[in-house]
Amino acid sequence: MSEEKKACDLCGLTVEVSGFTLKMKDGEKIFCCEGCKGIYQMLHEDEILPE
Ligand SMILES: [Zn+2]
Repeated sequence: MSEEKKACDLCGLTVEVSGFTLKMKDGEKIFCCEGCKGIYQMLHEDEILPE
């Protein structure tokens, strides 16, 4: 099992819980919490790909 720790794409904290991700035009973004995901989503609405 290779579980690499990632940094939140909004605040830079280590992502401890996976599942907060967004598919963007330039790749998948990962976040530490629902709040960070929500803010990023709001700021980059036009760059988010539909599932
Ligand atoms: Zn965060």
